[in-house]
Amino acid sequence: MFTKGLSYDDVLLQPGYSEILPKDCNIQTVLCKGINLNVPVISAAMDTVTEEKLAIAIALEGGAGVVHRNLSPEEQARQVSGVKRFLNWIIDSPVTVPHDAHISDVRELVSRYGISGLPVVDSEGKLKGIITNRDLRFCDDDSLSVTSVMTQDLVKMEDEPSLDKVRKIFFENRIEKLPVVNKEGKLTGLITVTDMEKHKNFPNASTDKSGRLIVGAAISPNDYPERLSLLIKAKVDFVVLDTAHGDSKNVMDAIRKIKKDYNIPVIGGNVATKEGTRRIIEAGADAVKVGIGPGSICTTRIIAGIGVPQFTAVLDCAEEAEKSGIPVIADGGIKFSGDITKAIGAGANVVMIGNLFAGLRESPGSEIIFDGRIYKEYRGMGSMGAIADGSADRYQISKDEEPVPEGIEGRVPYKGELRTYMNQLVAGLRKGMGYCGCRSITELKQYKKFVKITASGLRESHPHNITITQEAPNYSRL
Ligand code: IMP
Repeated sequence: MFTKGLSYDDVLLQPGYSEILPKDCNIQTVLCKGINLNVPVISAAMDTVTEEKLAIAIALEGGAGVVHRNLSPEEQARQVSGVKRFLNWIIDSPVTVPHDAHISDVRELVSRYGISGLPVVDSEGKLKGIITNRDLRFCDDDSLSVTSVMTQDLVKMEDEPSLDKVRKIFFENRIEKLPVVNKEGKLTGLITVTDMEKHKNFPNASTDKSGRLIVGAAISPNDYPERLSLLIKAKVDFVVLDTAHGDSKNVMDAIRKIKKDYNIPVIGGNVATKEGTRRIIEAGADAVKVGIGPGSICTTRIIAGIGVPQFTAVLDCAEEAEKSGIPVIADGGIKFSGDITKAIGAGANVVMIGNLFAGLRESPGSEIIFDGRIYKEYRGMGSMGAIADGSADRYQISKDEEPVPEGIEGRVPYKGELRTYMNQLVAGLRKGMGYCGCRSITELKQYKKFVKITASGLRESHPHNITITQEAPNYSRL
C-alpha cells in the first residue's frame, strides 16, 4: 500500500489576506504542558550542537536547548545546572558563609563558586550581614573574622519582592546584592544586580517560575535510571527520550516508568506515523517528537530504506496528537527559516534544529579554517565518531557489535553568534505569519492552506539565473 509523502521543499504556504504586521505576530508556544517558550525553536540533543553554552544562548533568546547525552550523567547534570544558575530572579538557596568563619573561608567560597559576594548567616540561618568583593579588596589579613569585615548595615527585602520594587531599591541604594529574609529574619533568597541586568538585556528569555532559564536534557531507555535523579536535582525542566525509533516497546516502557516514578515532563520520540504518535501518547508522553530520516546528517532512509518525508510526517502526527491536546515537535530537516513556518503550518508547536545551529559560536567545538572559510564540525549522533563517543544505543547498537552508522560527519559554515542568527530565523517565521495573516502560532497551525509545488516550482523559489556575489545572513546554499 502506498501513501504520498511530501517534504518541506514540496510545499509552500499560500499567502492570504492579512491585517497584521510581522513584528506584531505572537510566536509564543507551548513546548509541553507547563512549559511555554517565547520562540518555537529548540536545539538538537547532539554533541556538536547543544552543551551548556548554546543552551544558555538559545534560552536567553526565548527557545530552549536539549543537552546531549554523549556525556557522563554527572557532566550532563553539571551542564544543566550551569544553565539553571546562569539567570535568576531570586536565588533561592544562595551560597552563604557562617558568621564565625574567617576571610580565608570567604575567599575559598568565592573562588569555588565564581561569585562576588556572600550573605553571612548565624547557626539558625538568620542574616547577619553581607561580605562582597568590595569588602575583601583591601583586606590583607585572611585570619580576620567575617563579622569584623562584613557590611552589617544592610539593605534587605522582608516580603515577596516585586520586580519594580527591587529595581527601585537597587537604583536608590546603588547596591549590587539584595538579600531576602522572612519574618524571623532568616535568609530565604538573594537578588543580584547581575541577574537584574541580564533580565533587562534579554527580555525574551524563556524562564521558569523562579526566573531561571529553561533547559532540557536527553536520556535513553537504557540510561535514564542513572541520569534522571541527577538531572532532576540539577532542576532540569524536561527530558527528551532520545531514540531513533520511538515506536518501540522499550521506549513506551521507559515513558510509562518515568511518568510513574518521577515528576518531570517527558518528550517521546522519534516517530513519523499516526499510529506511533498514538502509542507514544498513550504511554504518557507530554509531547511527541517527529522525524525519521529528515536530518541533514542522517543516512537512515538510505541505509535502512525506511522513513517518511518530514512535511507529511509532521502533518499526520500533529493531526493525531491534536486529538489529545499533546504538542508535536518537528525534529530535523530545517534548512531555511521558511521551513519553520511550514513545520508549524503542518501542525508542530516547536521545531528542533541541529544543522543550522552547529556553526554558531556557542556550539561545542572550535572553528576550522578550510579553503579560506571558517567552518565548525557537525556530525550525526549515529555517525561512527559519535557512536565511538557513546551514542550507540540511540541506534540500538550494543557495545560489542560492529557499528552500522546511520549518520555522517562533516562541517558547516561558521555563523557567528546565536543571537543574531536566531533573529533571522524568527524574522523569517514572522514574515511567513504576516503573509498568511496569522497572529499566533495557534492560528498558523490552523491555517492549513498549502500548495504542492513541482521541481520547477522549487527552482523558481530559490535565487536563479544569477551568480550570488554577496551571501545574505539568512540564505546560503550550503
Ligand atoms: P538537522 O537539523 O536537519 O541537522 O537534524 C537534526 C536531527 O537529526 C536531530 O535532532 C536528530 O533527531 C537527528 N539526528 C541526529 N543524528 C542523527 C544521525 O546520525 N542519524 C539520523 N538522524 C540523526
